Amino acid sequence: MDIADIRELYQDVILDHNKSPRNFGKPQSHTHTSCGHNPLCGDTFELFCTVDGDVITDIRFEGSGCAISKASASMMTSELKGKTIDEARHLFATFTNAVTSPLDSPVDESLGNLVVLAGVREYPVRVKCATLAWHTMQSALNQSQTASTES
Ligand code: ZN
Repeated sequence: MDIADIRELYQDVILDHNKSPRNFGKPQSHTHTSCGHNPLCGDTFELFCTVDGDVITDIRFEGSGCAISKASASMMTSELKGKTIDEARHLFATFTNAVTSPLDSPVDESLGNLVVLAGVREYPVRVKCATLAWHTMQSALNQSQTASTES
């Protein structure tokens, strides 16, 4: 996918996931949870994971934030359900690298649907909105209580 394709899809995908976020709402039970806050924008989300062995069998979120933060959380939870913790950590690293890389550098295709979020590179102040859910996920899997994009 080249930069022009990403740009075109970016707005559509963000709007769609913002309007109908996937995996939104607190589940009845969970094994891991964390709160994430992005003070620059006011995005605040709580993430709930159910981990069975080393597989993330369920991952949901609730809270509020801007369209990018919500869409990113929605897309992340869709991608991570069914993945192992190792795969989730790997995806976190690949995703974080993609959204913080220079605008003209190629995006790692292994991100699949998440490639579209690399469009946030055109709006550097929103990168922390896009990575908030991911930092919160890392923190939940590490079992700490709070995540911040400032750490
Ligand atoms: Zn935001």
